[in-house]
Amino acid sequence: MGEREIVGTGAQGHRGTETDARGQEPATAAGGTEPARAQPAAARVAEETVVPVPVAVPKGLVVEAPARSTDLFVVDPIARLETLEAVAAAADACRKCSLGQTRLTSVPGEGDPHAGFVCVGEAPGATEDETGRPFVGRAGQLLNEILGAIHFKREDVFICNVLKCRPPNNRTPEPLEVGACAPYLHRQLELIRPRVILALGRPAAHALLATTAALGDLRGKVHRYRGIPTVVTYHPAALLRNPHWKRPTWDDVRLARRIFDGEAV
Ligand code: URA
Repeated sequence: MGEREIVGTGAQGHRGTETDARGQEPATAAGGTEPARAQPAAARVAEETVVPVPVAVPKGLVVEAPARSTDLFVVDPIARLETLEAVAAAADACRKCSLGQTRLTSVPGEGDPHAGFVCVGEAPGATEDETGRPFVGRAGQLLNEILGAIHFKREDVFICNVLKCRPPNNRTPEPLEVGACAPYLHRQLELIRPRVILALGRPAAHALLATTAALGDLRGKVHRYRGIPTVVTYHPAALLRNPHWKRPTWDDVRLARRIFDGEAV
């Protein structure tokens, strides 16, 4: 998907030009140019081997892991949960904010935790609240399309939200709710250790990257969340309202895919 370089004898350069590393014609010992000789099969294979060359991309914010505290009073039990199932159960039992009382079902997240690609959204909506599954409403259908554009099926990736409970009328999460719920997300990411995170929308980007920057300033770059490359893009629900944001979104997800494939750093 990214730029590629052909390596091997006499085939240096992006366009496979017949020059050596200094851009010169290969010469014979006598100083002349030799007519082409039949090469052994192994040499031909080496010549045709295509090696991806990682492309440098714009660097963004860097969020480090919090320093390990020795203060017994601040050890967070969520940070000690051993499995994603335990995180889901703890989020379901959580009453640290009022959303635990108003939602129908908690929505911890789903998908393949070993896939190396995690999508983080904002919070469950009505359909998600009814089903307990993330991104299954209209925004979810669009997310499936977006993932399809980078050759993923939704079950190939892990999908979750910052909030595990639906805010009434789908209002934007309050800072107190994000503060209460984000530790579940952080622990999920710590257990999954993905190769790439795709943050969908501003609340997800803000929760992961500890910033209040505008989405337009965050997208198109590669941020680091505890060392994990993190790409920010528009939330699918925003795309349903603003279809002209589709092109930048496609650019962002292609960037995420190139990082996943090791073609961009
Ligand atoms: N919007 C989100 O952010 N998450 C969902 O699960 C559904 C809609």
